[in-house]
Amino acid sequence: MAAELSKETRSKVSLTGMEDWKWTKTDVDRWSREQTPKRSYNEEVVGRVLELRGRFEVQQYGALSQDPKRYPLYLLKSPNFSPDKKTILITGGVHGYETSGVQGALGFLERAAGQFDGKFNFVCVPCVSPWAYETINRWNAQAFDPNRSFRDGSPVEECQLFLRAMKDIKPFAHFDLHETTDTDNTVFRPAKGERDGKAEEWSEIPDGFYAVGDTKNPQADFQKAIIESVREVTHIAQADENGNIIGTPLEQEGVVNYDFKESKLCAGFSDAVYTTTTEVYPDSPRVTDEICVNAQIAAIVGGLNYLLKQEEFSDVQQEW
Ligand SMILES: [Zn+2]
Repeated sequence: MAAELSKETRSKVSLTGMEDWKWTKTDVDRWSREQTPKRSYNEEVVGRVLELRGRFEVQQYGALSQDPKRYPLYLLKSPNFSPDKKTILITGGVHGYETSGVQGALGFLERAAGQFDGKFNFVCVPCVSPWAYETINRWNAQAFDPNRSFRDGSPVEECQLFLRAMKDIKPFAHFDLHETTDTDNTVFRPAKGERDGKAEEWSEIPDGFYAVGDTKNPQADFQKAIIESVREVTHIAQADENGNIIGTPLEQEGVVNYDFKESKLCAGFSDAVYTTTTEVYPDSPRVTDEICVNAQIAAIVGGLNYLLKQEEFSDVQQEW
């Protein structure tokens, strides 16, 4: 029957988000029960968020209903939010297992945000998907990939709560911090194949950092500034023999583009002028956990310095 429905009707009936899955609710519950905590969200994230009180305004914007005490959700804001300044949004942990995304967002606030004091409004959501942070998973506990689910009426609680919290935030630039890991191929892609009942396309995991821009709004110079800044900290991924990174043609060194809005990615939820998804590779023999965190911070700093230069240039033009 589904094949006879128009595309519009299909998207209207896609309420559970599970229509295309082979897995039933029972399969999801079994998978979810098998996932056990490997680290503490409370210690590694919440503790550090609360320590930033005083320097940033800390707001709890919700909690995961499966265990609200264990999984409170936080955002941090510049204390003197001003409509005269541009707002920079930083998100981490949309994929909970991507550790340096979470630690990099917090590390930026702790160590680097100070140098931009008074220049921007900052909003940071360091860990969108805390259950997945603890259990080292790509999916949330209901086997959804949050980073395909940032849309109105999303069946994914992590996305719903995030979008509600962002209702009045109009970011000028958005950095969404991610990693590409060996387990993408060894664990998460096979699991998706099982869930959906069809084989997943394989692509090589690139060794090095890369950034993903938006096909419809690529902002190539902004992405380049990010790459050049990260290069000071770690190596940049090179294209494979087909000229691709993860199956997508290279746009410029270390950059590929995706359609953010069509894919319902976190970086596409707003109408920000500048958007990027960072991808750190933590399994390289050439990096350490610390280098990965520093690469995320360097990506944000590089992007912000680029924006400041654009701003100075436009001020000069206005004076003329
Ligand atoms: Zn990711």
